[in-house]
Amino acid sequence: MNGMRFAGRTAVVTGGAQGIGAATARLLAEQGARVVVLDLDAAKAQKVADELPGGLALGCDVTDKDQVDTVFAEIGAVHVLVNNAGITRDNLLFKMPVDEWNAVLGTNLTSMFLCTQAAQKSMVQQRYGRIVNLSSRSALGARGQVNYAAAKAGVQGLTATLAIELGPFNITVNAVAPGYIATAMTAATAERVGSTPEEHQAQAAERTPLRRVGRPEEVAAVIAFLASDEASYVSGQTLYVNGGAR
Ligand code: NDP
Repeated sequence: MNGMRFAGRTAVVTGGAQGIGAATARLLAEQGARVVVLDLDAAKAQKVADELPGGLALGCDVTDKDQVDTVFAEIGAVHVLVNNAGITRDNLLFKMPVDEWNAVLGTNLTSMFLCTQAAQKSMVQQRYGRIVNLSSRSALGARGQVNYAAAKAGVQGLTATLAIELGPFNITVNAVAPGYIATAMTAATAERVGSTPEEHQAQAAERTPLRRVGRPEEVAAVIAFLASDEASYVSGQTLYVNGGAR
């Protein structure tokens, strides 16, 4: 349908070993990109990369500057960067240890600073880049997620600012803010609150105008659009992919 719109492009997807990241890696590769799957677990990333024509997997903790700089030096020129790696550590404020705050800020926000700083070098040189950052509906506020909401709201500020700084080099920077998407992340949340994934999804569906939860592929399609040349005049935006939920 969209042909090979990423032919000749190298795309890096962080946290690409499962969920939204894996769906994005598959879609970008289907449309011609050489995809590099970065994830904490190199073996799991390799399984996804093995399915992709020309796919490459690299183990990398995206919160660690040395590891990030090393893998981006190995990758070389990057055209598309999808900053997708993320975690949750939900807790009410009065019970939240500072390490849960730091872990969530580190993985969801500092990682984007580090990966974008590393990737922009080749993007600026080649005067071309597409950066898509994963925010969340939780950026608007979510009980038990003060760390995650702050990080994901931070992603929107980072996105708007980098669109200004990198725009003169023909680099667009946008964010996608999903609502409830059925992945391992939301299954783990269900388990924490004592629900099955199915019960938890049914509750989320009731709160959603489209009356269902989302699929990773539905987020991947929006990421791919923002990463494509069709979105060449879209920058600094956050696009909610949430079935109409508030
Ligand atoms: P998953 O938990 O399914 O996948 C996240 C991936 O990121 C995992 O493979 C994980 O590896 C990896 N990862 C975690 N920490 C690091 C790290 N330090 N370095 C490298 N990789 C890391 O998440 P989703 O697919 O559900 O979410 C993807 C993104 O979308 C996240 O940013 C999330 O916050 C966001 N999002 C998700 C929503 C949802 O409903 N699912 C809603 C809104 C936003 P490992 O498993 O080994 O820890």
